Amino acid sequence: MGTVYAIANQKGGVGKTTTAVNLAACVAEAGYESLLIDMDPQSNATLGLGIDKYAKPTVYDALVGDLELRSAVVESGIARLAVVPAGPDLAGSTVELPRLPGSENRLRDVLAPLRDRYAFVLLDCPPSLGPLTVNALVAADRVIVPVQAEYFALEGLAGLLDTLALVQRELNPKLTVAGMLLTMHDGRTRLAQDVEREVREHFPALVFETVIPRNVRVGEAPSFGKPVIHYDPHCAGADAYFELAKEVAARG
Ligand code: ADP
Ligand code: MG
Repeated sequence: MGTVYAIANQKGGVGKTTTAVNLAACVAEAGYESLLIDMDPQSNATLGLGIDKYAKPTVYDALVGDLELRSAVVESGIARLAVVPAGPDLAGSTVELPRLPGSENRLRDVLAPLRDRYAFVLLDCPPSLGPLTVNALVAADRVIVPVQAEYFALEGLAGLLDTLALVQRELNPKLTVAGMLLTMHDGRTRLAQDVEREVREHFPALVFETVIPRNVRVGEAPSFGKPVIHYDPHCAGADAYFELAKEVAARG
């Protein structure tokens, strides 16, 4: 059975989607069957893989309707990487989900029949701790927390860890933190170095050794509908996401 990773942080713009898309592409490139599920109504992961955000069906139809999740799986055009797209309809599920029976378990339940097919399932979460993120955390085995190497990086992390502990206690005892990932790190600045030191001191053993540099190619790749390893395989961002894939696979 494969491992399910939620990529979560309630802050927006910290590199969740970038990490979900690029980590998924790197594990697929390394030979693992992988599935990326876009859990954000903004559909940035869907768009970043060149899939139309008005494509139907989406993860919404499986979460709220009674469609089987496998009917919403589409090919990404990249070997071994399949995708369940999101669309704007997913926004409504934050209201609809809590009204449904077993609302926190919907994703876990629809994902269950597919888990054997994929070595890695990555869940790209929206920037909130609402019902969609809770569904992802209940369906997941591990959480990856991207942390932008900027001022205020630690702000909000305590709240996120509290939510993780709550989900672990009440809904999903097997959930663990795979690691915190420093993203958009600009090694030339004192600030990035200070933030990195602070995060590592605060959360020893929890921070991935791999650091994702701020890299123009990483930022450009989604506008071409490609992960960075397919857009510019030799840039620093592609190297970093490859290293991360190795570290994630090694941590198990
Ligand atoms: P989130 O999903 O947490 O909201 P994104 O992954 O969408 O964050 O990243 C926010 C913005 O930062 C996007 O425009 C993305 O392209 C850009 N970005 C993310 N990581 C990097 C990086 N390592 N280097 C340069 N730009 C990045
Ligand atoms: Mg995002």
